Amino acid sequence: MNRHFLDDLNAAQREAATQIEGSLLILAGAGSGKTKTITTRLAYLIEEVGIPPSNTLTLTFTNKAAAEMRERALRLVQRRDMHPPLLCTFHKFGLLFLKFHIQRLGRKPNFVLIDGDDRKKILKNINDDLPVGLVESEISRMKNWLIMPDEALLSAQDKNYKLIASIYGKYEEFLKEKNMVDFDDLLLLSLKILEGDEELAKEVSEKYQYIMVDEYQDTNELQYKLLKKLCQTHNNLCVVGDDDQSIYGWRGANINHILDFPDHFAGAKVVRLEENYRSTAPILEAANSLIEFNKGRLGKTLKSVKGAGEAIEILESLDEGEEAQKVAKRIRTLLDSGVSPSDIAVLFRLNALSRSLEEGFNRAKIPFKLVGAMRFYERSEIKDILSYFRLIVNPHDDFSLARIINKPKRGIGKVTQDKLLLEAQRAGCSLFELYKKGAIEGLVSAKNHETLTGFFAMIEELQAVLEESTLRFLERFEELSLLKEYFENSKETIDRVSNIEEFYGVFRDFILSNPMANLEDFLNDLSLKSDQDEVGDSFVSCMSVHASKGLEFEHLFVVGFEEGFFPMIREGSDLEEERRLGYVAFTRAKSHLAVSHVHSRFYKGKRTELLKSRFLKEAGLLEGSLVIEKRSNFKKGDLVTHKIFGAGRVSEVSGVGKEYKLKINFGGMVREILSSYVIKI
Ligand code: ATP
Ligand code: MG
Repeated sequence: MNRHFLDDLNAAQREAATQIEGSLLILAGAGSGKTKTITTRLAYLIEEVGIPPSNTLTLTFTNKAAAEMRERALRLVQRRDMHPPLLCTFHKFGLLFLKFHIQRLGRKPNFVLIDGDDRKKILKNINDDLPVGLVESEISRMKNWLIMPDEALLSAQDKNYKLIASIYGKYEEFLKEKNMVDFDDLLLLSLKILEGDEELAKEVSEKYQYIMVDEYQDTNELQYKLLKKLCQTHNNLCVVGDDDQSIYGWRGANINHILDFPDHFAGAKVVRLEENYRSTAPILEAANSLIEFNKGRLGKTLKSVKGAGEAIEILESLDEGEEAQKVAKRIRTLLDSGVSPSDIAVLFRLNALSRSLEEGFNRAKIPFKLVGAMRFYERSEIKDILSYFRLIVNPHDDFSLARIINKPKRGIGKVTQDKLLLEAQRAGCSLFELYKKGAIEGLVSAKNHETLTGFFAMIEELQAVLEESTLRFLERFEELSLLKEYFENSKETIDRVSNIEEFYGVFRDFILSNPMANLEDFLNDLSLKSDQDEVGDSFVSCMSVHASKGLEFEHLFVVGFEEGFFPMIREGSDLEEERRLGYVAFTRAKSHLAVSHVHSRFYKGKRTELLKSRFLKEAGLLEGSLVIEKRSNFKKGDLVTHKIFGAGRVSEVSGVGKEYKLKINFGGMVREILSSYVIKI
């Protein structure tokens, strides 16, 4: 029998991969092969034990991780006569489940999955008094803690929370009425269905005989409850995780789930992995030394299999401009020496820090991709097409209709739109139904009525074409919607037309590679795309530490290591979680790690002086390893500012020791100042 893939595991990993009955926790630090172990375990179940792949379920938190695991597992499996195993994110699982079972909640399976942008819009429409970000995160938090609107109202302590609870109630009604679901609903509604139907819960649990979960430290209450239901008939649950990498506390992840696993799942076995295969010793030592400052942890040993390597480089710069320049220079050297851009990444704690990097990288012509920045599918012109698609899937979706009823311009002004939507609301139906009943005619001018009739006729024609062929539908959509033509004529600087063309291309690819899928599947697939999906082959990836979880890069730069930025210090932030983020960041590096900090940053409209992060000291990176470069970015004529003397102009630059001495004219008064004491403006 072919056992070679098990030979790639060490003894502890092999024990975990081949222990298949009962509950099992693999608890280990970063880079110790947790993901590799469960991937191999899946292959072992299918290939060696003979479990039908459809009886397994493997869950992760990002699409990228799911895709990688699928690829890795399937490479190990020789059997080609099978359906691939279900290996996906929790949310994707929820989506698939709801497609089959949402009727049990009295709802139709053609529901629309809304994204964050839609959610904000809906909430804003309901209430504009409180900041929408706050309302959104509070509602999401409640959903993840299984708190329903009526309970929220009962337990609300103050005026604002009462208001949020009532917005929550209205929001839920709105979603139900429009047959929409948000991300949280994918899990919440799935759990409700399972809790409400014991028979079904049993059946589903019996189907998924072997369940595995990666990054278990990030599960929240909702995910935990769902898992409990799913393995109620067999308890065959294998989870892997690292308490030191729990970084979603703010999203309700509960670190106790991993700590209490042995209590939650009777008879659980715990396996520990103690060898790190990813990083060289200096990188691992820094990460270990940093995380040891945390109190609430289980404590683990982690040895580097790779052993000695390059020292960690500390980059010190005056400001974010110089920082970007330094990082760009090093990346350029790596690229010129033949390193592939995909082996390089730059991480930051806060997305706002990416702007200066972007500028610096553009100037240095570094091919880079900002992972999770303004996403393609969130662009306005793409959302217009998506709204058309949604309306075609569900003509009663007035939310989508309102977005595109006058796009391209049809002469249906805001007043007419509001009138129509209000009337529909009054009649308790959708605008499309109103039209079908012939109730629009008396409401609007004869010209508008004709336009609307034409509009709905187009939607109905597209629905009919869609029934026959999805490819033909796309062609007809392009001809009828005239969106491209509309944007061609609008004099905007953004190239919306090429975005639209790219989108049509994506859709065409999807149809060709998923011949059985329909338009709804495409829409829902898009809504589930996550930040990490965009890590590419020919780019240096720039992303937040959160988005980097589970990934690894040969060469890694972590920027913004200053007090206030990393650790981020603001209301509600938690120093131990910040430290775990530092640990996650460092442990993404395989052979080369550079950590950068600046003396001052321009942030939220002002320049702020900053101290270096305490994490540098905690990671043992301050003594000896400090690489201070001569600063040469001052030249005659530069405008600078000094804490005491204010603004001045540089008239002379000369080197002194490790620094530069500047002669500066402060409005007639000339002073010599060391370069680290002034900031370029
Ligand atoms: P993280 O906590 O960051 O998610 P992890 O524990 O999931 O890390 P993996 O990504 O599975 O770790 O593995 C880290 C690296 O070590 C990968 O490149 C993997 O191929 C390699 N690796 C793991 N186990 C072994 C092994 N037994 N022999 C050789 N290489 C290994
Ligand atoms: Mg992993």
